[in-house]
Amino acid sequence: MEFVNGMYSIREIFRIGRGPSSSHTMAPSNACLTAMREVPYAERFEVYLYGSLAKTGKGHRTDYAIKKTIGEDKVKIFFDEGKNDLPHPNTMCILAYNGEEKIYEKTFLSVGGGTIIVYGEKNKKQNLIYREAHFSDIEAVVRKKGIGLDEYVFMNEGTEIKEYLYRVLERMRETINIGINSEGVIPGGLKVKRKAKILFDEGNKKAFGHEKEIYMMSAFAYAASEENACGEMMVTAPTCGASGVLPAVLMFKQIERGYSDESLVSAIAVAGIIGNLIKHNASISGAECGCQAELGSACAMAAAAFAFLKGLNLSQIECSAEIALEHHLGLTCDPINGLVQIPCIERNAAFAMRAVDAVSLAEMLHDKRKISLDSVIETMYNTGRDIPCIYRETSEGGLAKLKIVCD
Ligand code: SF4
Repeated sequence: MEFVNGMYSIREIFRIGRGPSSSHTMAPSNACLTAMREVPYAERFEVYLYGSLAKTGKGHRTDYAIKKTIGEDKVKIFFDEGKNDLPHPNTMCILAYNGEEKIYEKTFLSVGGGTIIVYGEKNKKQNLIYREAHFSDIEAVVRKKGIGLDEYVFMNEGTEIKEYLYRVLERMRETINIGINSEGVIPGGLKVKRKAKILFDEGNKKAFGHEKEIYMMSAFAYAASEENACGEMMVTAPTCGASGVLPAVLMFKQIERGYSDESLVSAIAVAGIIGNLIKHNASISGAECGCQAELGSACAMAAAAFAFLKGLNLSQIECSAEIALEHHLGLTCDPINGLVQIPCIERNAAFAMRAVDAVSLAEMLHDKRKISLDSVIETMYNTGRDIPCIYRETSEGGLAKLKIVCD
């Protein structure tokens, strides 16, 4: 749980960068950049990786990202899997030296979605954009002012956030376009073949309807996730591993229903506020709370975005996100060989479809429910803390025990 007396910008939910892992590649790179900025005169660095960063860092290419950032000759990397009593499951320590003299030492926590926190330093309250940190509080503001959730975001972040969200939308579209036109094998050793183009070609043969939705939305989710797995440019939503769900729903629904780009930008703002609530009150980190925190959150964001696009009311939007998150409670993070490939890519496609289903249920049943989004978010966090460590991005349990070589 990062901060509950307000929230930061939704820019932190949608980061444009390279995959395959926001917590294992983006955040460590950001930590290294921070260290290099603070001691630009350092001659060499040592980086110690602990917890999930140590256990799945090689599969996630954490070492590659660090070497790329600092320079291969200037850094030594240590994978320490044995250290316990960590302040966070994704902890890293950066030391800098001039000759033999240690001139710098800082511990960084990768808390999900590419965000880093310096351990022991206070959160920067001045960067808080939102005063509210629970859906019930946001609902009160939105109802009092008679505005939509998207307008609530623009009111707090300023209209310049729209410009950024247009860039987010363009990157999502570009990533999918590249993905559905790419073939071959995803690097990493599992020999996983790219499948987005196969699904897309099949989907193009179908008339609009349920079957087309399944093929096309899956194709888009595979496309974004496969690009991420290949280390290409993508947008976190809210993480790299879960970056296929929201773009798949947005892009397919735009083709199917003709929504404008402006509407999609507003829908991304709505998705962002849902992701922000989960990040600030629970977690979006697989290492901290399992895949329910990554793909469960992505599903909730996509459901809220589609509900908004459909013109549903506030209660229906909240209910869509709540249903999408609720039914992934307890979902484990167990990537085979520590790669963001199996089950991650396929799971993005499955969750895009679940997001749409959640909206259908919410549309009909929202006024009969007994559970709020806030309470599911809290439950997700508590459940995540109860999930044994082997199911939290350590590649020690579940599917990760299948040391298979796939087609
Ligand atoms: S299983 Fe889920 S949480 Fe774990 S790496 Fe894959 S997408 Fe991320």
